[in-house]
Amino acid sequence: MILITDCTDSTVVEDLTEHYLSVLSVSSVVKHRCNPPAPLYNDPEEMPMPLDPSIRPTVLRKEGDDRLVIDWSDGATMCYTWQQLRDHCPCAGCREERQKPPDPFRVLKPSELVPLKPVSITPMGHYAYKIAWSDGHDTGLFSLELLRELGEKVKGS
Ligand SMILES: [Zn+2]
Repeated sequence: MILITDCTDSTVVEDLTEHYLSVLSVSSVVKHRCNPPAPLYNDPEEMPMPLDPSIRPTVLRKEGDDRLVIDWSDGATMCYTWQQLRDHCPCAGCREERQKPPDPFRVLKPSELVPLKPVSITPMGHYAYKIAWSDGHDTGLFSLELLRELGEKVKGS
């Protein structure tokens, strides 16, 4: 089940719902209205460069088993592997983990031995997507700025 959260414009959610369904093959969609979400970044230093507000994803789709493709409103098409997205998870826990030196004696958790996949991608307002992963991790909010930064451009401006 995907929880679609939207605070201002239901038409956008309507448009995207189909894409989530095709990306994730889920059986039901629940709509949820809420108060405006809290700001993503508490520290202004961490705030990414503001993206031109007219640049938005128009289509999200799954390609093959391991990647996501996003078409953007400026004509660009960008490609992301699940692994790449997870490796750049912006949540505090993952950022901390990435800053630690690698530990050669670390034992892999069972959840790390199976390939990770998102189980849902939820729009958070108009500026970010929350990705929930097959290992239960769901605290990463991927801002549109971050997605523009991470994407490997396939075509477009
Ligand atoms: Zn994370």
